[in-house]
Amino acid sequence: MNQHHKETVYQIDADDRLVVFNSQWNRFAIENDARDLMQDHITNQVLWHFIRDSETRHLHQTLLQRVRQSGHTLTLPFRCDAPALRRYMEMIIAPLDNDAIEYCCRTLRTEQREPLRLLDPAASHNEHGAMLRMCSWCKNIDTGGTGWMETENAIAHLHLFDTESLPRITHTMCDACLGRFGFDNDH
Ligand SMILES: [Zn+2]
Repeated sequence: MNQHHKETVYQIDADDRLVVFNSQWNRFAIENDARDLMQDHITNQVLWHFIRDSETRHLHQTLLQRVRQSGHTLTLPFRCDAPALRRYMEMIIAPLDNDAIEYCCRTLRTEQREPLRLLDPAASHNEHGAMLRMCSWCKNIDTGGTGWMETENAIAHLHLFDTESLPRITHTMCDACLGRFGFDNDH
């Protein structure tokens, strides 16, 4: 296993249970205030338990099936942003023996930005208003009539800088990402 310290590596077995993690996994969980995702809490749990929205889960299941059937490694760019950081990442999905799979996620580059209150889980979000749809793969936001936009542009477009109560965010897949992975767009 490649143990470069910036890479988060984990493996699932043939039943999609999380079985192996590198040390960066726990470091990443702590940095992102997600101690419930530390290794001791989730070992032997099924991967799908942690991917809540059905479209993202379906995408990951299809990618996994492709890797297992073809025996080829997939390399996919994705975004994993924090409120003050654009994080451009890459996910490598590699087949191992006995239908096990190794995932390796590494940061390609990051860009600082003004912290976005919209992405801060501690900021107050309107529990009853309409929900914003965010693509869980590229982190673009659905602005409705004008399509999908980078988070900052969507915030400006929807005037979310000056609102007192921020909308909640629901995760899904955008049309561009579905198209990129060869899914049709009528969902
Ligand atoms: Zn997307």
